[in-house]
Amino acid sequence: MRRKTVLTTVFIIIILFTSLFFVSKSIMLAGFEKLEMGYAERNLNRTISALNGEIDGLDMKLYDWAAWDDTYHFIDEPNQGYLDSNIVTGTFTGLELNVILYVDLNATVIFGKTLDRETEDEYPNSAELIDSIMANDLLFDLPYSESYASGLIRTCNGPMIVASRPTQNSACDSPLNGAMLMGRFFDNDVSERLSELVNLPVTFYLTNEDKPADFNEAERHLNESDEPNFIQTIDKDYIAGYTIINDINDSSLFIIKTEMPRDIYQYGVASFNYFQIALLIVMSIIGSITLLTLDMVVVKRLSILNSEVKTIAHDENRSTRISVSGKDEISSLASEVNLMLDSIEESEKVRGIINDKLTSKVVELERSDKASLNIMEDLNETVDTLKSMEKKLATKNKELEDYTYTVSHDLKAPLVTIQGFSDLLASNYAEKLDDKGRHYIDRINQGSERLNALISDLLELSRAGRKLKPFQWHDFNEIIKGSLESLEGKISGANVKVVHPNDFPKIYGDDMRLSQVVNNLVGNAVNYMGEQKSPQVNIGWKESGAFYEFWVQDNGIGIKDEDKTRIFNIFERASEGGAEGSGIGLSIVKKIVETHGGEIRVESVFGKGSKFIFTIPKKGADE
Ligand code: ADP
Repeated sequence: MRRKTVLTTVFIIIILFTSLFFVSKSIMLAGFEKLEMGYAERNLNRTISALNGEIDGLDMKLYDWAAWDDTYHFIDEPNQGYLDSNIVTGTFTGLELNVILYVDLNATVIFGKTLDRETEDEYPNSAELIDSIMANDLLFDLPYSESYASGLIRTCNGPMIVASRPTQNSACDSPLNGAMLMGRFFDNDVSERLSELVNLPVTFYLTNEDKPADFNEAERHLNESDEPNFIQTIDKDYIAGYTIINDINDSSLFIIKTEMPRDIYQYGVASFNYFQIALLIVMSIIGSITLLTLDMVVVKRLSILNSEVKTIAHDENRSTRISVSGKDEISSLASEVNLMLDSIEESEKVRGIINDKLTSKVVELERSDKASLNIMEDLNETVDTLKSMEKKLATKNKELEDYTYTVSHDLKAPLVTIQGFSDLLASNYAEKLDDKGRHYIDRINQGSERLNALISDLLELSRAGRKLKPFQWHDFNEIIKGSLESLEGKISGANVKVVHPNDFPKIYGDDMRLSQVVNNLVGNAVNYMGEQKSPQVNIGWKESGAFYEFWVQDNGIGIKDEDKTRIFNIFERASEGGAEGSGIGLSIVKKIVETHGGEIRVESVFGKGSKFIFTIPKKGADE
């Protein structure tokens, strides 16, 4: 991150510096270039002014000569004396002249002299030279006393500075009688003087002669544009201004060039370089300060945060926290991370607790699994044992039933014999016996009857599990009806009211056995009615899922809770009651109901009555 920050800062500084470099370069250097151009133009104008000064100077000199009585007279009457005393070599050299001309009013040359100041001789082509001067008519169009003509002309010997004025007397009040002209070649001497005047190198080339390339280019530019001057940089050190100088006829004569050092521009470049160096230093300082500040305020703290987070990530100890300092986004980030770590620690604790609990639960489960496996095994064993016991019990029951049946059956015959002989005794020998003997016979009869009843019950019980007939569909109304008829005497004897509906369903089973169930239950209801003033027995039914539910309800003595299950066992009787009985009836009923696929139970409130309820499957037990 530190590397990235450094790179980014350096990159920004480079971009900033480069942009500033180019922007400032274009602004500053362009400004300096503009200044330099102005400076060059001013210098060029100074050169032109100096040139004009040359021309004016010549004109001033001429003025003295043209408005002079001697000259005035010389025009009227040319004489050698004037020439000898005035038109001498010294005049030419003193006034820096190359030509002196005198013309009359018709512009005819009265006198003309040319002089090469170096050789102090006339120019060999003097006549030709004078003719080329005279070809400029404008020079002699001088109608007034103040008229003058000055400027540059083209001659056969090169460009020449000329000035002409009308000749008149010294008081300037005479009529004009001609004109005087002075000429000075525009040669290197003149250009050197101009150079001295402007303190800059001045060079010139005639427009119609071969010129260096820069002059040609300047000429082309000046001809193409309306600008009077053309400024051109020559190299990094020099700049030059060019302008075309016209002759008095307004045709281009020569191009003059003023060259000057590029002081302003170089000063500008130096300033620009100083500025760039200063800028670079300032930017480097700003960059370094920015980097340092960033490093201190952000990067360092972030890297500390980063390393602390890394340490924490690889640390087993979840209670380690990040050190927080300051009040900014980083410290708030650190606080947020700490909060996150708090919740991680918290959730890990919770997870640990849950894990422990889960582990202990798993252990418990494994234990209980084992335990339940053991229990299951035990249960299976128990079930097996129970099953085998049930089998054994069933076998024993069967044996017992068979035995009971056999015994009861076997007992029946001697009992019948006993009863037979006892009856014979009672009918044939009662009179021969005393009261005691008859009493014994009665006791024998009663005992025999009770034994007979007991044996019958036992026989019934042993038969109850067996099917007397194959099961069939029977109208339960008929069964009720038959049973109540057989119990008619008993019921009416006990003054019991029996109530029942006539819409009993058809049921599948053994009608004789089912009659036995109704007989026993209704019989018991009558037997155990007790001292009831209005004894009543209700027989009813209802549907209960896949079963029919039948009940026989009385308002008799009722059964105590502790006797409710017991009474369905053989020979078991309730403690209360008083009525005679063997305790076998309900066992027979239970057996028959179960043989038909149903169940029997009793609901009773002791002292208020009992309700014996039994179920028979709607479809039939073996259908
Ligand atoms: P028991 O020959 O004694 O009537 P049961 O097997 O028919 O034998 O009845 C067992 C006992 O259940 C009876 O001795 C009696 O105490 C009790 N019991 C049966 N039916 C009723 C009833 N409707 N009300 C009160 N007690 C009854």
